[in-house]
Amino acid sequence: MADAQYILPNDIGVSSLDCREAFRLLSPTERLYAHHLSRAAWYGGLAVLLQTSPEAPYIYALLSRLFRAQDPDQLRQHALAEGLTEEEYQAFLVYAAGIYSNMGNYKSFGDTKFVPNLPKEKLERVILGSKAAQQNPAEVRSLWQTCGELMFSLEPRLRHLGLGKEGITTYFSGDCTMEDAKLAQDFLDSQNLSAYNTRLFKDVDQDGKPRYEVRLASVLGTESALHSEMTSRLKSYEFRGNHFQVTRGDYAPILQKVVEHLEKAKAYAANSRQEQMLAQYIESFTQGSIEAHKRGSRFWIQDKGPIVESYIGFIESYRDPFGSRGEFEGFVAMVNKAMSAKFECLVASAEQLLKELPWPPAFEKDKFLSPDFTSLDVLTFSGSGIPAGINIPNYDDLRQTEGFKNVSLGNVLAVAYATQREKLTFLEEDDKDLYIRWKGPSFDVQVGLHELLGHGSGKLFVQDEKGAFNFDQETVINPETGEQIQSWYRSGETWDSKFSTIASSYEECRAESVGLYLCLNPQVLEIFGFEGADAEDVIYVNWLNMVRAGLLALEFYTPEVSSWRQAHMQARFVILRVLLEAGEGLVTVTPTTGTDGRPDARVRLDRNKIRSVGKPALERFLRRLQVLKSTGDVAGGRALYEGYAAVTDAPPECFLTLRDTVLLRKESRKLIVQPNTRLEGSEVQLLEYEASAAGLIQSFSERFPEDGPELEEILTQLATADARFWKCPSEAPSGQA
Ligand SMILES: [Zn+2]
Repeated sequence: MADAQYILPNDIGVSSLDCREAFRLLSPTERLYAHHLSRAAWYGGLAVLLQTSPEAPYIYALLSRLFRAQDPDQLRQHALAEGLTEEEYQAFLVYAAGIYSNMGNYKSFGDTKFVPNLPKEKLERVILGSKAAQQNPAEVRSLWQTCGELMFSLEPRLRHLGLGKEGITTYFSGDCTMEDAKLAQDFLDSQNLSAYNTRLFKDVDQDGKPRYEVRLASVLGTESALHSEMTSRLKSYEFRGNHFQVTRGDYAPILQKVVEHLEKAKAYAANSRQEQMLAQYIESFTQGSIEAHKRGSRFWIQDKGPIVESYIGFIESYRDPFGSRGEFEGFVAMVNKAMSAKFECLVASAEQLLKELPWPPAFEKDKFLSPDFTSLDVLTFSGSGIPAGINIPNYDDLRQTEGFKNVSLGNVLAVAYATQREKLTFLEEDDKDLYIRWKGPSFDVQVGLHELLGHGSGKLFVQDEKGAFNFDQETVINPETGEQIQSWYRSGETWDSKFSTIASSYEECRAESVGLYLCLNPQVLEIFGFEGADAEDVIYVNWLNMVRAGLLALEFYTPEVSSWRQAHMQARFVILRVLLEAGEGLVTVTPTTGTDGRPDARVRLDRNKIRSVGKPALERFLRRLQVLKSTGDVAGGRALYEGYAAVTDAPPECFLTLRDTVLLRKESRKLIVQPNTRLEGSEVQLLEYEASAAGLIQSFSERFPEDGPELEEILTQLATADARFWKCPSEAPSGQA
């Protein structure tokens, strides 16, 4: 069997994205708008197959054919009859679900390949004996012959995405090297063309000289007679003695379908900004123009706080080995009107709640400004993976002039925390049920407090360019020293510029601590609808979760370089340290041995000591954090924060050893089942699926009810047209030195 890192385990967590409540609260027009945007996103997401590996489009087409002819249950009967064990068939379902979730056979997080965890001969028997194969023997056999070998191959170069000999990519033809990528970037820069929607194909002419094709994604082909800002760019160029040809039409038939649904969505737009935004996206995908996408993004930024939020295009460049080509993604998310009302209530009570925070009034802003925070529930997220939050657009020039949107995706975050009981690590048995019962509600409380009152609280002491202070130097006293304020921010200095490397983690820590501290307030819990024993349970689970999160955070610490890879995780670890330091048995972290005989650990929180021991400890810590921040005391801030963030093997906790346990017990990344929307008459229905690999497969079987077979044909044709470009670098004819 394959190495564990190249398979998805049979017991992989699968969760459903829950957006029922938010969808229910949409108006009929909002639902129609969301539906067509969702269709556009799903169609466009198929381009990711072509952006991932040469074989991914064929694997997708093969799986889709199999499961259209027989659902996972029916195919199971056949598979068992062919001699597969239950485990082997489950491994196949998990593999198929993984292909759909990642839109290809490379993990979207980590970029490593995954292969089916069953013998190839057995899978071949299932495929060639399936109903799909009986219906279309030649096609199914041909698909299997094209992708079967590559599906299983773990040849070193195929194990991960990369350029040339380093790995697999379809952003570049197989013979492209890092030098080619740099040359092409210089060429694009010289022509003021963006790489976001391009791929690079290298060829050799009769004289053995390399020729580069820069191909833009668009509905229209290079020969189109329709004139636009792009047509003059589509031609041959000589650049530093090399031949470049700019063409377009990549993914054309797929983008055609995207455009059709964007046109339909436009009819249900909530305002003219959304209409103009969609018109520009349509222009962008039709012509291959990133400039049009930027214009669309400008309208998008100006469309503040819409009920139905979306973004679509070639957005994130993580998976281009050179880092400048964007992977297609499209999402549609909705304001959860019920949750927003609670958050608004919190903002309305801010003036009063901020007084509860453990610092003198002079350290608080003169007037509370609610931070720009939106929590949305995702209806659709197409592409290779679903993030828990977004901060876009990525165009730097737009971010400078127009700003950006920072959105938290509430139901995605909820999935990340929704763990089945048997997979709930590091908790005592008697805590597990309570944790599962209250994790969601306590998380809502913590998010609201963290984002609104956490990031929204506290004042920085500033002296402006004219020398004026925004605080009274005579009367304001530093509660830590009992003296007047000795340091502050001078004109031009900011929190980020002063605290640089620790700024974001420190601020996350402050916001998380505010959340823990203020959740003890009955008024806050009442806003979220909790009283009495329920309110006490919410508090307990919120604190317990933070303690557990602090332990889990160790995954993001790299001992080799003694550094944290993730600001938010570091912040949680710091809070765990603070609560441990409070002593009196408030929190304990104990190494144990699991039932499998391997290292394990338990975290405990004494719920009777939260107010008597935890609260005062948090109060002292929070006051110090705020005072050091307000006064711009970098040296003091670093000493405090880095002290808590240090990970050592010192007893009693031995965190470095615990880190190994955390890595050992780490749950693999969950698969997420998304719903479909369907237009019935003039009404949009939400179709939901079971949280299992079979449910995920079913959701994809029903995703393209009108044109599934046509799409598979399109994908394999597009893949075949470029197949000659993916030959191994060693076989490539040598170009000019
Ligand atoms: Zn935050």
